[in-house]
Amino acid sequence: MNEILIRGLEITACHGVHGFEKVAPQPFVFDADIETDFYEAGKTDVLDATVSYSDVCRLLDNITRGTVYNLIERLAYECAFAVMENFPRVNAVKLTVSKPSAPVNLKFSSVGVTVGMRRERVWLSLGSSMGDRQAYLDKAIKLLDETRGVRVVKVSDSIKTPPYGGTAVNEFLNCAALVETFLSPHNLLDEIHRIEEACGRVRKERWGDRTLDIDIILFGNKKICDERLTIPHPDCKNRDFVKIPLKQLGLDLN
Ligand code: ATP
Ligand code: CA
Ligand code: CA
Repeated sequence: MNEILIRGLEITACHGVHGFEKVAPQPFVFDADIETDFYEAGKTDVLDATVSYSDVCRLLDNITRGTVYNLIERLAYECAFAVMENFPRVNAVKLTVSKPSAPVNLKFSSVGVTVGMRRERVWLSLGSSMGDRQAYLDKAIKLLDETRGVRVVKVSDSIKTPPYGGTAVNEFLNCAALVETFLSPHNLLDEIHRIEEACGRVRKERWGDRTLDIDIILFGNKKICDERLTIPHPDCKNRDFVKIPLKQLGLDLN
């Protein structure tokens, strides 16, 4: 693993929930672990082949002095998102924001928060069986791409498939998408639920007819099994309507 480390970057700015913090500057201290690949830079000795730590520091400085936030959680998220968005060579970032002069009337050295983000490739299966099905699939792709931390890389053609699972009666239109994200799997699921709702999905019975369904088939190499998420999707290998569009995108589930 290769990492660029930034330690103790001090930026004076105004953030805090108290009114006086919004006008009286205080120090915010940044530590960052930036995961990238040094292979190219190690061979060529060229700055363009790596991530410039001075560019990262400048970006953190601009964000931190550019807007007044209540929470260092929010500041840390903004900074981590910006690092991932502006530096495609960054595979993952762990960012700590400390506030050594936080207004706490007790003796302490510092308080802080840490945010971690990792770039992952995620394979999604989309389906619609009500209304203007292609329009719902198109809207879903647009809303996914507009979600911060999600970028749609490619989308398959749509195929017509018979209803699945017993409760649905309408014919489905299904497609697949490859997205790049630096959201966590559970945060991506929350965004998917928001997009399903924005497309008129009413949650009734499982496998019923719906305006939009988005399932996470693969999330990088992760294996997850909890009360909210099972990844890889447990039934994907049994479903041609999932496998055929994914195969068109270059993913063979067999
Ligand atoms: P199926 O998952 O068998 O295709 P479905 O898509 O009709 O059924 P939903 O009603 O859309 O099921 O989702 C029910 C719950 O499944 C969701 O609220 C979510 O928490 C959970 N879930 C578990 N694993 C996944 C996954 N990989 N992708 C999406 N949702 C999942
Ligand atoms: Ca489904
Ligand atoms: Ca689903």
